[in-house]
Amino acid sequence: MAIYLCHDQPDLYEHEATVLETRPGAVVLDRSAFHPGGGGQVADVGTIEWNGGVAPVTHIEMDGDRWWHVLAEGAPVPSGDVRVSVDAEHRLGVASLHTMSHVLNAFVFDEFSGALVTGAQIGSDGRGRMDFDLPEVDNDRLRALEGPINEVIERGLDVQAVYVDAEQAAKIDGLVRSMSVAPPPTPDGRLRLIDIDGLDRQACGGTHLANTGQSRPIRITKVENKGRHNRRVRFEFADPS
Ligand SMILES: [Zn+2]
Repeated sequence: MAIYLCHDQPDLYEHEATVLETRPGAVVLDRSAFHPGGGGQVADVGTIEWNGGVAPVTHIEMDGDRWWHVLAEGAPVPSGDVRVSVDAEHRLGVASLHTMSHVLNAFVFDEFSGALVTGAQIGSDGRGRMDFDLPEVDNDRLRALEGPINEVIERGLDVQAVYVDAEQAAKIDGLVRSMSVAPPPTPDGRLRLIDIDGLDRQACGGTHLANTGQSRPIRITKVENKGRHNRRVRFEFADPS
């Protein structure tokens, strides 16, 4: 299961599958549209339904090529032929915050001459944060990026996944940044880039919107100093639902 079905078919939320392996509280499927998470981004959630009932999936544990779909505590363990459903609303929330983290990163990268991301986290609670290596910066300048981020949402820029040769990509400055959500090079050595039209292009294996206009408005809630070098920018949806 090294194939990211969620990358090949981003709009696939429901499909048939077969259980290949089970253990208490988890199953491996022959195919799955779940995004496994990684790099600070939470995994998809959803359900596996079969003739024995419905089991909620809380997250994915990756064990090489095997993706363990971890079930809610006490849930029955599916077997045989099943129907997989990915929670579309959860996916949209995470993809929105994650896409906006690319936008934030693009502005920081531009304004502070290539500042590096040292960490990122996107939760399922409508909140995210990014850490940047920015020793000498007035925190108000970071807070002020909220306006430009929301302008990008209003402008509705297309977001596309493109695949390039991994070796060549490594030579282009700024393309492969540390924030990347475990970008899996494809079996033929290509790297997945996320291109936000006219704004940013970087390697990433996470889930993203198809257009920035799909995101709800964002608010930067806090900028903190984390040690001498790091700034932590916290953000969330401006209209918590
Ligand atoms: Zn990404």
